[in-house]
Amino acid sequence: MAIKEVTRMGNPVLRDKVELVSQEEITSGAIAELLVDMKETMAKESGIGIAAPQIGINKQVALIGIPKDNPRYPDQPEYELLTIINPIVTVLDETLQGFWEGCLSVPGLRGFVERPRKVQVNFLDETGKEQAIIAQEFIATVFQHEIDHLNGILYVDRIKDMTKFCYQEELDKYWSTQIEDDSIE
Ligand code: ZN
Repeated sequence: MAIKEVTRMGNPVLRDKVELVSQEEITSGAIAELLVDMKETMAKESGIGIAAPQIGINKQVALIGIPKDNPRYPDQPEYELLTIINPIVTVLDETLQGFWEGCLSVPGLRGFVERPRKVQVNFLDETGKEQAIIAQEFIATVFQHEIDHLNGILYVDRIKDMTKFCYQEELDKYWSTQIEDDSIE
């Protein structure tokens, strides 16, 4: 159990095909150990989501959660930490919504990405039980960003207007008055 180094864009593990998790891996405790590392690493980096490839593990496991009083996302409601394994996304509302996304694997940069505003996610929880959740607005983007990681996709692949891809510092300096929406990690 330890804080792990976050893999960065260019590391092939972020682009490789990510393996499905078996029930045996869940019951054996292997996934529980992975989840501890992911939680510790996400907390250290103040992330609101992390996927296993971001700590170098090629498994379809992600965590999503917005802690209360998170200083980086003061306008976003708290979201209880959730484990998602082998997720499948179904779009419920194709209306696009845009946020300035960031990523622990692409440090220091932000990009404006539009995604469907409402999705259903079917997944296994940490006990191996099938679950389904409906996510909309900001948290829907967080789910889609993390699940993209489990398909070898980074948010930078989804930026349509490359003039809206920039360093965090320049975003704060030059764009802050033009941003309608909050940004995510
Ligand atoms: Zn990311």
